[in-house]
Amino acid sequence: MVAAACRAGPAHLFRAPAFERLDASPLHGTAPESGRRLARAGGRYVTVPRSRVVWSDRFLDYDFGPHHPFSEVSRGLAARLLDLATRDSAPDRIEWSRSVPVAGRATLELFHRPEYLDFVENAGELAKQVLLDTGDTPSFPGCYEASARLVEGAVQAFDYTVELRRPAYHPAGGLHHAHTNRASGFCIFNDAAVAIAHGVKRGLRIAYIDIDAHHGDGVMYGFYDSGKVLDIDFHQDGRTIFPGTGFPHEVGRGDGAGLKANLPLPPGAGDEALVPLFRRVVPPLVRSFLPDVIVLQHGVDGHYGDEIAHLQFSPAGYAEVDRVVLALAHELTHDRLLVTGGGGYRAESVGRVLARTGLLLAGLDLPDDAAVLPQEWRKEFHRAFGREAPATWGEVPDLDPSPWIPDDESKLVRTLESQLGARFPAP
Ligand SMILES: [Zn+2]
Repeated sequence: MVAAACRAGPAHLFRAPAFERLDASPLHGTAPESGRRLARAGGRYVTVPRSRVVWSDRFLDYDFGPHHPFSEVSRGLAARLLDLATRDSAPDRIEWSRSVPVAGRATLELFHRPEYLDFVENAGELAKQVLLDTGDTPSFPGCYEASARLVEGAVQAFDYTVELRRPAYHPAGGLHHAHTNRASGFCIFNDAAVAIAHGVKRGLRIAYIDIDAHHGDGVMYGFYDSGKVLDIDFHQDGRTIFPGTGFPHEVGRGDGAGLKANLPLPPGAGDEALVPLFRRVVPPLVRSFLPDVIVLQHGVDGHYGDEIAHLQFSPAGYAEVDRVVLALAHELTHDRLLVTGGGGYRAESVGRVLARTGLLLAGLDLPDDAAVLPQEWRKEFHRAFGREAPATWGEVPDLDPSPWIPDDESKLVRTLESQLGARFPAP
């Protein structure tokens, strides 16, 4: 934190670290040869988990029905694959939180308007479905409780990473389209936004990074005026996909001016666009902001072959993004990092990519692409989706030619520089 504060950046962004007391705690250390974290217990050191994963089977209650594209089943299969992949080989590296209550009204009101909460609560008591937005997000019986449980998962994970300085993972969350007063884009309550509001209320500065194929409008507009929230969002160009927002000129307002960065990518863009841009733009912005916590919305609908979006990111591209974010969290926030899931409409991609992210957050190596997936998991996948599961952790992608050329990166970076008043390094 001290080293980071010496970096060049706007003077008004500097502030005292919020966790001096925790950071100075002698109870924790890292064994350099293994990277494992140690804690002293009764005069001896024992290994403690590197990360927490929040997954309750009750998250499956967030269910719009069999014909709706969004399903927590694929997130559940990601959590299951992560569990199977680590259960025998690294049982001590992940701490699982499997019991998550429904968030209370006061928690939900940190972000959402009371009258909207009443509306959802009433809709969830009806036997029939009603629309909660203009078309994509229907109610279902118990939708208030199911949505509020996802929120509690995000808040629980947020508190864990703040207090214990280890990455926390909420693969069922990341419902980033919900606004303060309305549902949108399959999102009833915005778990990420509530967790961020909870952190802001505690006086924390939050860097929110969103790699979902859709612009995270609920989070960005929810904190558009906030000087406590840096928002960096990579997404498919809003002129070609829902929700039609997230342009470089949208930079925030008031205290939030200059703290919202939008990077729209054309349909067909893949790792060759995402990864160099991410490496070039995200570290300088996050370093100059000096957050206490980083939140990464890890939607997987930018993956090639997605049923709804039209980007072509690969598992290798996602892993590179994860590594950059993990390194930034280590450098700037003492590993205070919350990662949520998000969109993703091809279960083969969601299951494997979100499981891989869980491995990286736990400090574990990724399996080879050719490594075989557990038979037990493949059976569960087949039962859930009625089709053959992938056989291995990776596959040979069948990609369309990308429209992205290096000049596109230069143009977007120049636009961002003029809109944000920032300077980014040369590629
Ligand atoms: Zn999405």
